[in-house]
Amino acid sequence: MNVINNTTTLNIIAQLAEGGSMRAKHFINGQWLDAESDKSFTVINPATEQVIAHLPAGNKLDIENAVSAARTAFDKGNWSTLTGKERSKYLRKIAEIITRRLDELSALEVLDNGKPFPEAKWDIEDTAGTFEFYANLAEELDHNNETAISLSEEGFSSKAIKEPIGVAGAIIPWNFPMLMAAWKVAPALAAGCTMVLKPSEVTPLTALALAEICQEAELPAGVLNIVTGLGADAGQALVEHPEVDKLAFTGSVPTGSKIMAMAANNIKNVSLELGGKSPLVVFEDTDIDKAVEWIMFGIFWNQGQVCSATSRVLVAEEIYPKLLARLTQEAEKIIIGSGETHGVLLGPLVNRAQYDKVLAAIERGVKEGATLVCGGERPNTHEKGYYLKPTILTDMAEDSWIWQEEIFGPVVCIKPFENEKQAIHMANNSRFGLAAAVMSKDLTRCDRVAKAFRAGIVWVNCSQPTFVEAPWGGYKQSGIGRELGEWGLNNYLETKQITRYDSEKPWGWYLK
Ligand code: NAD
Repeated sequence: MNVINNTTTLNIIAQLAEGGSMRAKHFINGQWLDAESDKSFTVINPATEQVIAHLPAGNKLDIENAVSAARTAFDKGNWSTLTGKERSKYLRKIAEIITRRLDELSALEVLDNGKPFPEAKWDIEDTAGTFEFYANLAEELDHNNETAISLSEEGFSSKAIKEPIGVAGAIIPWNFPMLMAAWKVAPALAAGCTMVLKPSEVTPLTALALAEICQEAELPAGVLNIVTGLGADAGQALVEHPEVDKLAFTGSVPTGSKIMAMAANNIKNVSLELGGKSPLVVFEDTDIDKAVEWIMFGIFWNQGQVCSATSRVLVAEEIYPKLLARLTQEAEKIIIGSGETHGVLLGPLVNRAQYDKVLAAIERGVKEGATLVCGGERPNTHEKGYYLKPTILTDMAEDSWIWQEEIFGPVVCIKPFENEKQAIHMANNSRFGLAAAVMSKDLTRCDRVAKAFRAGIVWVNCSQPTFVEAPWGGYKQSGIGRELGEWGLNNYLETKQITRYDSEKPWGWYLK
């Protein structure tokens, strides 16, 4: 049974054609503009491998137009000087329209990314929730924007205020397309910044829908501009643009590293949300079924294409054989299929490149000595589509490539451990530090282990639930800075000190 109404899907695709309400154009200065470049790229449905859209591959000139619109809106428009309450009205309106269009936007995400429809729906609900949350923080900014500073010298008073950083650039990945856009657009707009967003060329469709939503919400022209295109062209031009004050990036470590180097040329403020190889440590007193459920949610949700996926599982040796058997049994039961089909829990990987990459990673792991417990191949139920069975690998060395590197697919590596000290050491033995999880009935032990993890996000007795109120970001090579919560808003705010000389006495340094 199909969960998506076919008419909705067909309507969306028709809209993408010239003349529909959602155009194959860039969204710049509140309008749909023809691209400066005549190059385009194709968008495919990973469940069918069919092309569903041709979109303009933005170039330096398109980025120039978008940044210029954002600059003018920031410098000459009133967005940055509106009260937070006034800005919050636009954010709430955007949230309201997203909620109204929930089913259609979820369908679009399924078509573009492949994820199961209920997961897409959850993403879109969270997207609306993110705009709501930052609408509240925008309002709060009107009241908590000044901090009085006590000085050590009499005759002076000082305060610190927060101001929008200016024009922000946002570059996002393909795994949670609309939600990743919201994590950047909502706080930036709440702070009073204007923005240029470049969505991933792999999944650009909901970003275009967001442009349409901003039009309906009557967001002032130039406040949000969206340019589709490839990383090396549109992305790089945005990072290098001297009029962009802040660059917020989510994506892989190699791209993050390039972006940081490019941004260094004009000392651009950058925040980076990068990859991970996050551990989940399961102690011997954990209920096996609960552990299996969270291990599966930690690695098979969104086809394992989750930056914080708990892709390295460490299990106390006492329960290791039993847990591995139960996990294998449940992993083999997962229903694989198109995200549109009712009951499916594992959709296709996002595209051919990702599919080939994940298969090659499994092959490399096995070549280096890992045991393939299950999966590692496409299901024979589908001729088309980038489907891969849930995969479990064991017996790899701790320094092996498969144990150390991000795979970004439904592939879990699992190893036993002898004691707490060894588990913590193994968990932290990684160049990444995005997330980590621990499971045990002993909450004192959980707390001790949570503190010992070198990771920015720690889950206790669960893995993956993410809340807009709590900070998100990584230690080590998993990134710089934090998104979500008040930390996400601070990403787009500068701090200014204002210090006043209050004394009537002359200063008396030169003029005695
Ligand atoms: P990617 O690095 O290939 O691409 C991300 C974005 O960067 C895309 O929009 C791409 O067009 C752009 N880009 C590529 N080269 C560029 C360049 N030279 N200059 C400017 N922009 C460029 O990553 P991906 O494959 O889209 O996403 C998967 C990665 O994202 C994984 O490593 C995952 O862990 C990470 N991720 C991290 C988080 C987090 O919150 N930490 C969240 C989601 C995804």
